[in-house]
Amino acid sequence: MVAGLLFARAGVRTTVLEKHADFLRDFRGDTVHPSTLRIFFELGLLEKLLQRPHDKVHDLTVTVGNRRLAVADFAGFDPRWGFIAMMPQWEFLDFVADQARAYPNFTLIMEAEATGLVVDEGRVSGVHCRIGEESARIGARLTIASDGRRSVLREESGMPLRSLGAPMDVFWFRIPKQVGPGNETTGIFTSGRIMALIDRGHYWQCAYVFPKGQADQIRAPGLERFRAEVAEAAPQLAAEIAAIASWDDVKLLTVALDRLECWHRAGLLVIGDAAHAMSPIGGVGINVAVQDAVAAANVLAGPVAGGADPDPLLAKVEARRRLAVRAIQGFQNATQKRIVTPLLAGQAPIRPPLPLRLLGRYAVLRRIPAAFLGFGIRPEHVRSPEA
Ligand SMILES: Cc1cc2nc3c(=O)[nH]c(=O)nc-3n(C[C@H](O)[C@H](O)[C@H](O)COP(=O)(O)OP(=O)(O)OC[C@H]3O[C@@H](n4cnc5c(N)ncnc54)[C@H](O)[C@@H]3O)c2cc1C
Repeated sequence: MVAGLLFARAGVRTTVLEKHADFLRDFRGDTVHPSTLRIFFELGLLEKLLQRPHDKVHDLTVTVGNRRLAVADFAGFDPRWGFIAMMPQWEFLDFVADQARAYPNFTLIMEAEATGLVVDEGRVSGVHCRIGEESARIGARLTIASDGRRSVLREESGMPLRSLGAPMDVFWFRIPKQVGPGNETTGIFTSGRIMALIDRGHYWQCAYVFPKGQADQIRAPGLERFRAEVAEAAPQLAAEIAAIASWDDVKLLTVALDRLECWHRAGLLVIGDAAHAMSPIGGVGINVAVQDAVAAANVLAGPVAGGADPDPLLAKVEARRRLAVRAIQGFQNATQKRIVTPLLAGQAPIRPPLPLRLLGRYAVLRRIPAAFLGFGIRPEHVRSPEA
């Protein structure tokens, strides 16, 4: 959607396909990081974006054993974007779609599912799709596959995908809560259990992390046992735990960490999770995908608007983003191996490790993870033109 906005803004006739009828799904994470906030500032849209419902989170905390520690502090950055905006992703996407619609050359087609690539003499020249009940073919000088971690277009392109492995899956459910004065989003780490609690005002969006492939093993002893486990790991959920009335209330999300060896071929560029599925660790995936979109528009939108052939430029987008993606995936992979796997196996001590204790004690150190998670390496700025 962000790529759609930027290409349309540069004067390119742009069509975005979304296979669902709306954006109203709750399994996408809500974290709009400083890098993304700054991009919207550069577009002159930040103030308007922040009129959508959100909470501001100025520091990140984790609970290890029974100690709650601050680990990242965004308050040292420019106050205009020195926080994480916890904004439901349907609000964010709806906002971006609204801004893009201001350009007459932008079209968003909902309930339009890309089903395959149109290939002419080896070059991708659009997509086959299903729009409602109808089959269609949309021609394009440039196709951007941003169809997420189970990308059909990536699959069909035959580009080799490298899996880095993910040791966990997630159960995703809601528990009601009272609206508090501040946002209390937190991560919980105890021996054998990891949870993330996203504070969405009147309810907690909960992620219960468990070893990959063990969903049936957790379900087998019954719902009562699961509720008790959740309430023990996160006592703030205990009072309303009966809100999990059946297993239908508990969605299984599978976690993946992978990336393409090459993000492009003639006529096709792959970005976001389709090019590099992100783990939920650090809550960065949305923001990395947004940065890919900005980099793609910076390199391509002006030339494509001017009638240039995009193919010789596609490698530049990947070259610009490769290091940033590798750095953050390296961090996620190391966290999975050193923290998630031993914790889920019940092997790790439930005392915070030294680096976390140091972060908890010295505010100045908390700026380092804040900069890494909040902006990443080589953060993007909007350089694409406005026609
Ligand atoms: C459990 C979990 C929690 C997470 N939490 C966070 C978090 O808190 N913060 C964060 O930043 N990241 C989080 N992530 C990662 C984040 O969800 C992804 O990195 C991010 O959504 C990637 O954005 P994207 O636009 O590339 O793909 P997606 O968000 O997956 O968007 C792809 C879009 O394409 C549509 N689509 C798919 N196939 C087709 C098709 N064939 N035709 C047309 N449309 C199609 C989909 O409906 C979807 O709207 C989490 C991941 C997991 C697994």
